[in-house]
Amino acid sequence: MSTKRLSTDALKALVRTVPDFPQPGIQFRDITTLISHPRGLADSVHHLARQAEEGGATLIAGMEARGFIFGAAVAISMGVGFLPVRKPGKLPVATIGIDYDLEYGTDRLEIDPEAIRPGQKVAIVDDLIATGGTALATTELLRKAGADVEQALFVIDLPDLGGADRLREAGLSVDALMAFEGG
Ligand code: AMP
Repeated sequence: MSTKRLSTDALKALVRTVPDFPQPGIQFRDITTLISHPRGLADSVHHLARQAEEGGATLIAGMEARGFIFGAAVAISMGVGFLPVRKPGKLPVATIGIDYDLEYGTDRLEIDPEAIRPGQKVAIVDDLIATGGTALATTELLRKAGADVEQALFVIDLPDLGGADRLREAGLSVDALMAFEGG
């Protein structure tokens, strides 16, 4: 297999934009076309893993569900463990959780606190950052469990929605492989 990596511009061209999903006015940035390409997932993960290695993470946390795809692969590539940040009621052990606001209503994320050593350097990985609500809640939850969370990595940033700036205000370094204008 060729080891020539796709550039981030080439990776961006593999993301499918679906207008008005899941509701009118939303431009849904669909990564299924990126990950089904023979090099799309591998090369996205390669770029993300190099950034995570620079940050020195010893554990990768990924948010359900698309953060599992990229986060688990980044963890494998780095030779570190993976922590799933789950929707409520999925983990079979005593969890700690956080409730956070969505545009309409609230949601909740849970982790197994035993999966984190005190002071462990954890990087969070998700497919996309929009308002930053999910990533901020994840950061707060991991910090509550004793993690040192300094880095957040995304395949896609929607900078106009301000999430990356919010994360930076919370003390994280934020990187994304690509950005799309608009919401
Ligand atoms: P947020 O909490 O606003 O940063 O939203 C981030 C989460 O919602 C991510 O897990 C994304 O998978 C999903 N998401 C938000 N907006 C979009 C969008 N325009 N296209 C695809 N996924 C999105």
